[in-house]
Amino acid sequence: MRPEDLLTPTPSGVCCKRAGFHIDPTRPVDKAIITHGHSDHARAGHRHVLATAETLAIMKLRYGDNFAGSTQAIRYGESIDLDGVTVGFHPAGHVLGSAQIAVACEGLKIVASGDYKNVADPTCAPFELVPCDVFITEATFGLPVFRHGDPDAEIGKLLRSIDLFPERAHLVGAYSLGKAQRVIALIRKAGFGKPIYLHGAMEKVTRFYESCGIDLGELRAVSGAAKADLAGTVTLCPPSALKEVWSRRFPDPVSSFASGWMRVRARARQAHAELPLVISDHADWDGLTETIAATGASEVWVTHGQEDALVHWSRERGLKARPLDIVGYGDEEDEAAPGAESPA
Ligand SMILES: [Zn+2]
Ligand SMILES: [Zn+2]
Repeated sequence: MRPEDLLTPTPSGVCCKRAGFHIDPTRPVDKAIITHGHSDHARAGHRHVLATAETLAIMKLRYGDNFAGSTQAIRYGESIDLDGVTVGFHPAGHVLGSAQIAVACEGLKIVASGDYKNVADPTCAPFELVPCDVFITEATFGLPVFRHGDPDAEIGKLLRSIDLFPERAHLVGAYSLGKAQRVIALIRKAGFGKPIYLHGAMEKVTRFYESCGIDLGELRAVSGAAKADLAGTVTLCPPSALKEVWSRRFPDPVSSFASGWMRVRARARQAHAELPLVISDHADWDGLTETIAATGASEVWVTHGQEDALVHWSRERGLKARPLDIVGYGDEEDEAAPGAESPA
């Protein structure tokens, strides 16, 4: 069996014709398998959705109770048979509930990793390496210039700034699903025990993380707080809020932005980030290439991002490689970039 006969690339996502399902389809379909809750991968309007319980809950939070005709939850390590095709779920280490989907039939195994990172994150299960014949990888940071470094060192910069400017408020722009909660958890890990404030757009999903047993310390809604009381505090907000009138309610705010893109100076400037923090929920160049090699895959399909360099790197190593031209996967951090709408 050729890999394309098991999973067929289409402009709206890969599709398994034999079992009639799509993975992360960008248009409404009959049967969707969803890797994680970011809005470019998880869309409303499918007839049936198979995903982890966390991903289903996140979709419900964002789109309401009727986001799909019917749903089925599956656990990491579990697999099901769909018309002779085995579908298994494995942690992707990207955000809470994120999964790689392993699709196997007649001795051929393809892993669709969705978005992933292979570094520790206190807010989600660690990435699991799944040996396979074909590995479908993202390429958000698929250029050798992208090396994310140590997130704890980035959080150290934030905490030093708070010490240095006790009269100012610190605003940290972060994507509302995953990044915000990871930043809070990293701040707690570094020993910061005071309450952390949340922009209204962060509240629902952050409370959901807490309900899953992720300890984020004392969190407060920023909406009711008096300006004077916000000196010396940290508030998590959507990146777009850094440039809005909203930020004027804070005393002399220091604007920070946690993103893999903060490696790029122009991006930091454009985001009005006085204190850029290079913290990403995507694998960097080393993470991508190490993972591709470790899967043992002889063929690599590359989705959204900087496909070319990764395809080239794979071919240099003697692997078969192709870009998948799927339209509609963005980088969720882009979506929250300045000028764009703030995410729901
Ligand atoms: Zn994502
Ligand atoms: Zn993505």
